Amino acid sequence: MNSDCRTPASGNKVDANGEVLGQMVSRYLAPTMKENPAEAEIASHRLMIRAGLIRRLAAGIYSFLPLGLRSLRKAERIIRAEMNRFNSREVLLPAVQPAELWKESGRWEKYGPELLRFQDRHGRDCIIGPTHEEVMTDLVRREVRSFRDLPLNLFQIQTKFRDEVRPRFGLMRGREFIMKDAYSFDADDAGAESSYQDMRQAYVNIFRNCGLQFAVVEADSGSIGGSFSHEFMVLAESGEDALAFCSECGYAANLEKARLAGYPGFEAPETQGMTRTHTPGCRHVPQLAAFLGTEQGHIIKSMLFLTEEGEPVLALIPGHREINPVKLKNALGGSAPTLASPGEAEMIMGVPMGFVTPVGAGVRIIADLGVGRLNSGVVGAGEADYHHVGAKPGRDFRVDSYADLAEVVEGDPCPNCRGALVIKRGVEVGHIFKLGLKYSEAMGARYAKADGTEAPIVMGCYGIGLGRTVAASVEQNHDKDGIVWPAALAPFQVALLPLQMGDDEVRSKALALFDELVDLGVETLCDDRDVRPGLKFKDADLLGLPVRVTVSEKSLKDGRVEIKTRRSKELSMVPLEGCAGRVRELVDETLRQEQGR
Ligand code: ATP
Ligand code: MG
Repeated sequence: MNSDCRTPASGNKVDANGEVLGQMVSRYLAPTMKENPAEAEIASHRLMIRAGLIRRLAAGIYSFLPLGLRSLRKAERIIRAEMNRFNSREVLLPAVQPAELWKESGRWEKYGPELLRFQDRHGRDCIIGPTHEEVMTDLVRREVRSFRDLPLNLFQIQTKFRDEVRPRFGLMRGREFIMKDAYSFDADDAGAESSYQDMRQAYVNIFRNCGLQFAVVEADSGSIGGSFSHEFMVLAESGEDALAFCSECGYAANLEKARLAGYPGFEAPETQGMTRTHTPGCRHVPQLAAFLGTEQGHIIKSMLFLTEEGEPVLALIPGHREINPVKLKNALGGSAPTLASPGEAEMIMGVPMGFVTPVGAGVRIIADLGVGRLNSGVVGAGEADYHHVGAKPGRDFRVDSYADLAEVVEGDPCPNCRGALVIKRGVEVGHIFKLGLKYSEAMGARYAKADGTEAPIVMGCYGIGLGRTVAASVEQNHDKDGIVWPAALAPFQVALLPLQMGDDEVRSKALALFDELVDLGVETLCDDRDVRPGLKFKDADLLGLPVRVTVSEKSLKDGRVEIKTRRSKELSMVPLEGCAGRVRELVDETLRQEQGR
């Protein structure tokens, strides 16, 4: 390392790859803020702004300042290394894409307002890529001819644009963001499955190497169904996604996907027939259950939805449960439903919400599997202030189809082993997906088999959000004072704090230690500002580099400096002599521990 460093008189310490190893704060752009920015709702967003990592340019559009960029580059390097290891080859595709490709795949119509469309000076429709299936498939259909060219796996690390409805949480849900996206191309399903498994392993390695606590969960794969898709979730309380875990068998699934294996002790007594019952003002399940003295689970909620095509659908669910909208969407064949407003419901069903009835309803009825297991239940009577008690599905009202619609809750039985599920929250940082023939068929990506016949290429796609990964690592690793970086993603490993820059001895010893650290390859940020010690400590905690080394008049009196680890807050006084070596070991040890090796 030593011989690779070049230090111009006024410059930084740079390693063999041109990366800064040692940096003085006074020559940096690392503006810290004491106050929480008003627009930041979650810790990572607040801290990344306060520590001077990112700045907002417009809604969902952020600039990376030097420290933020360093963390981003670290994530990038970790990702690139594993992709290379797993035989994915790096390319770089354009951000601007011609609309024709999207028309071919059918997504020009389907993608909706998240797709940023514009015209060039010739009036040609273009988009800024929210993802690159079309461009990749186009590249491959031109270049791949025969089975000899397969399998092929290509990746890029590139800027995407998605005009998100609600950009928020800083880098977590931006409009412009950087993604690693990879695409696999195989001759058959078995090959595609093996590519998928490789990528799954690469992702496990990547997030482990980032030093993150994560889970791999079965994810919703739209109307395709089956376990075609997994999400990589960094566990954090503020995460947008809820996940179901079984502590006994390890089952893990996104709530959109988690199957409800049954409702224990749920059946109601069989009845001879239903009874129209006066239930004045009982519009809501708890109210109605209390009034009738019945369990909430024995009330059948009738909820009116409208499909994308505007078709009304009545969805039935036991009263103590909620419908998961993605499960409903899949059960409806992929058309996203919206809950009808009270006005719409009354217009279509002819009664106020709360009394809507499936009995004799002239609309499609889809019921949760739990409804099918009820021998009888309470349903609206189709007139204000009345319900039918003892109504039996199939006998008293029609059900067009049954599906698993209910969202699982904590304590529900695991679909694999019947253990109790727990619910945790997470941030989706990566997503792997078996695409099958979707794009290759639509866009004619074919290859010649050994026997001369042609077949479509079987595809998979694999994404990781880089900014989101860095933000999620902050979300998972912070305390009241600031960030607690996992060493692998920390912008620097060590904060060196000379407390009195005006003191010749402190200054010269600290600068000598800085040189020694850098010579040992330790990434060091030296706070050489002439500010009071309290501020240096505060900023060091805020930025949260794994190791802090403090050189002060006091400590130097007996030839020592103070070392503190950010995560454990352990303090030790060590002799200045040999200190750099100890710091190096501490950094290496921290990395190893966090990466679970
Ligand atoms: P989400 O459900 O969060 O919108 P998605 O399913 O749309 O995500 P993919 O299309 O699978 O995401 O994209 C792959 C990865 O890109 C995601 O796992 C995530 O890490 C990242 N990503 C997606 N949308 C954003 C965004 N708006 N801002 C930052 N990163 C994003
Ligand atoms: Mg999205």
